[in-house]
Amino acid sequence: MAVKKIVIVGGGAGGLALASRLGRKLGKTDKFDICLIDKSPVHLWKPKLHEVAVGAIDRSIDGLLYRDHGLKNGYRFIRGEFTGCDVDNKTIDLAPVYAEDGELLLSSRNIDYDIMVLALGSVSNTFGTPGAIENCIFLDNLLSAEFFHQKLLDALLQLSESEDKKLSIGIVGAGATGVELAAELFHVIDSVKDFGYDNVSDGHLDVHLIEASPKILPQLPERISARAQSLLDRIGVKLHIGVQVQEVTKDGFITHDGNLIPANIKVWAAGVMGPSIFAKLTQLPVTKRNQIEVDRFMKVDGVEDVYVIGDCAAMELQDGRMSPPRAQAADQMAHRLHKNLVNKFKGKAENEFVYKDYGSLVSLSRFSAVGNLMGSMRSGEFFVEGHIARFMYMSLYQRHLSSLYGYFSALIYRFAQKLLRWHRPKLKLH
Ligand SMILES: Cc1cc2nc3c(=O)[nH]c(=O)nc-3n(C[C@H](O)[C@H](O)[C@H](O)COP(=O)(O)OP(=O)(O)OC[C@H]3O[C@@H](n4cnc5c(N)ncnc54)[C@H](O)[C@@H]3O)c2cc1C
Repeated sequence: MAVKKIVIVGGGAGGLALASRLGRKLGKTDKFDICLIDKSPVHLWKPKLHEVAVGAIDRSIDGLLYRDHGLKNGYRFIRGEFTGCDVDNKTIDLAPVYAEDGELLLSSRNIDYDIMVLALGSVSNTFGTPGAIENCIFLDNLLSAEFFHQKLLDALLQLSESEDKKLSIGIVGAGATGVELAAELFHVIDSVKDFGYDNVSDGHLDVHLIEASPKILPQLPERISARAQSLLDRIGVKLHIGVQVQEVTKDGFITHDGNLIPANIKVWAAGVMGPSIFAKLTQLPVTKRNQIEVDRFMKVDGVEDVYVIGDCAAMELQDGRMSPPRAQAADQMAHRLHKNLVNKFKGKAENEFVYKDYGSLVSLSRFSAVGNLMGSMRSGEFFVEGHIARFMYMSLYQRHLSSLYGYFSALIYRFAQKLLRWHRPKLKLH
């Protein structure tokens, strides 16, 4: 039998989990070549990006190097940025790769495949708001989270040298990303005094959280939103609820009623859409929000051997809702697709994806966590807060690590991370 080449494009919550599982199951035989393509050499679980932004975690400890992980888990890593594909000739186009000084390292390339899985995630949606792209930072990937972190350190340095200065940070979108980032910022301000930023206190920080819906965490049940709102109030976050941003300027956000919400650092954390490159894919059914339509087998109708998983897939679930842009959905799709592909090669039937909502947890840094748990953990739904919610929140990351390393290796990995942190500052200061 000729070697079957399965190429997964995008090594995030869905793609990396799939590559790891397929690699361990099939990649160590000589019948399969499992490849993972990503534009970045390092994976960091996207729900942790707000922690990178405030320096609570660091890519050198928490990042996973694809090449090393691939070697140990039976897949081959190819560094490259997806720019298109030809599904008739079964090829993937990758952009040229340049060094930091602009030197061309690799020209544009084509990679062939027998089966292609697209798992390129999503980006924030500015809904065409003027000035948003030019003036805001988007927490869509590791580089932008690190850019925010550098801006924050620069601003803290200025604050520490001048008693009358204030730092104002504006965040558009009070979904999980915006809420978690707002809370983390107050935690950082509390912590930096230990590192010699003597003049800095939470009196020097204004965090504006702006949400167009009538409540924060609009996708979550009322009780969670209300509780998170009262905790943010208590921390000192300035909430602007039911406020639409009309324009972003270098001074801040202009709202629908003509007010200016001033901000030195501006973050856009609202809306979700597929990668902009998808708009150029003429052979695939791309929605207005740049996602690719798939059936419940994660297949593209009428196109052979192409699957799409995670945030970039537009899949209608059994209850008529669309699959949510969440790590748990991406991971569950990876799990289902792994089983389906193994079945396919054994000549067995593939099964429909069924999404199971295990609930939602939102971390408010060291201040608290809130959420609801559903499904198999208990029948019905129940509200959690404080230590239990924090523990459950951390266990989500542990589940992600288990899918990458296996259960016991993931436990050892976490322990090793803790040891590595022991000698390091609590915050990343460079
Ligand atoms: C701050 C934050 C907090 C969140 N918290 C939660 C949470 O608590 N719970 C939850 O369920 N979800 C949460 N989410 C959402 C969750 O992170 C996403 O739904 C999930 O990561 C989607 O997985 P994915 O595999 O589709 O894409 P991603 O995990 O985004 O991975 C996409 C991968 O594709 C790569 N890529 C992108 N474009 C290209 C290209 N052109 N060429 C090559 N590679 C490319 C990227 O480098 C990345 O590795 C959060 C998101 C954010 C930003």
